Amino acid sequence: MSRAMPSRPLRRIKGMILKRMPLMVTCEEFESFILAYLEDELPRRQRVVFEFHLKICRECRDYLAAYRRTVELGRAAFADPSAAVPDTVPEDLIAAVLDARDA
Ligand SMILES: [Zn+2]
Repeated sequence: MSRAMPSRPLRRIKGMILKRMPLMVTCEEFESFILAYLEDELPRRQRVVFEFHLKICRECRDYLAAYRRTVELGRAAFADPSAAVPDTVPEDLIAAVLDARDA
């Protein structure tokens, strides 16, 4: 296991990697990464791209914050099935949540 790394110029390798990793994704692509990001399932490379987009795009920051709240609310609902349902929750939403839990 102690075989030495072949002595290739590191810069060349780095250049090859960067060429395949443009640090730009569209907001649409960003959206498709969100779930995996929150589940901590993004490959390291995509995570870097994702977080870079997050830095430069305010809309997606807001979107991610809203998405995260929604996921947390959903988790809270699943975590405690006996929790009282607030009066303001529409019946069809309750039905949808119960359906999803049985699925
Ligand atoms: Zn964006």
